[in-house]
Parts: sequence; C-alpha cells; structure tokens
Amino acid sequence: MSVTTKKRLQGCEVCPARCCNGLEESITRPNTRDEVDELKWQLHFDTTKIFIRDRRWHKLVMGRCRYLDERDFCTIYERRPSQCRAHNPPDCEHYGDIFDVMFNTPEELQAYIDKEKRRRNRRRRNGGGSKGKRSR
Ligand code: SF4
Ligand code: SF4
Repeated sequence: MSVTTKKRLQGCEVCPARCCNGLEESITRPNTRDEVDELKWQLHFDTTKIFIRDRRWHKLVMGRCRYLDERDFCTIYERRPSQCRAHNPPDCEHYGDIFDVMFNTPEELQAYIDKEKRRRNRRRRNGGGSKGKRSR
C-alpha cells in the first residue's frame, strides 16, 4: 500500500509547508567587490533571495520540492532526507521571521553594502581621531 503521510510534527499540520517551498543555504558574507557582484548577479533571478539572520548570511532559492503533493503533504515522509528531519518547529519558517534583513534585488543588496561601508568609515574616523595632538 502506498502511504502519503503528512509531517506529524506539532505545528506542521497548520503550516503551508514553508520549509518545502524554498531551499535555504548558508553562505559566507561577501567581503570583496567580486563577491558582492556574484551575489548581485544571483539576485537577478526572481527566485533567489539573500538574507541575514543573527549576523549569518543565507541564500534562499524559492521553489517547491518535487516530493510535496498538492495538499502540502510530503510523499516521501518516511524516507525524507536528514536535512528535512533536522528541520523542526519551532525553529523554522512557520514561527516568526527567519531573517533580520532580506535582499530581494541587486539594488537592495548594494544599498546595504554601501550603508555598511559608510558606517565602517564613520566608526574608523571617530576612532582614528583619538590619537590627536600630543601635549608637550
Ligand atoms: S517544519 Fe516548520 S515550516 Fe516546515 S512544515 Fe513544519 S511548521 Fe511548517
Ligand atoms: S522531501 Fe518532504 S519534507 Fe523534505 S522538502 Fe521535500 S516535501 Fe518537504
């Protein structure tokens, strides 16, 4: 008999399977212009988003898992991958925001990078001024 089982974890029953509708991947913070350009290029695709949570950077590729049925049931629940098994309420998308900052477009990412750069420069200028003139 083929069995189609809905995830039985508490909370999943009332969730539109958010964790099965996007692929989240940890990425390193972009530090060089090339690395920023690479992420900006990826954001040209409207299925891609970049977000920061707890200072860690992530890429989110929107798309529906091929093993999710039209009722949002996992059709391979008993043999779902370990990544899915590790994904549990309440530490999941269904409970509050999964991000502190979300970038949907290259422009949003660039604006954030520019703002961070200005903030760093300001901090450096303020800190750098403390060595001032020596008193004689
Ligand atoms: S693990 Fe979280 S996001 Fe995934 S179906 Fe369950 S409640 Fe929804
Ligand atoms: S394999 Fe199942 S639990 Fe994992 S993402 Fe796909 S539908 Fe969701």
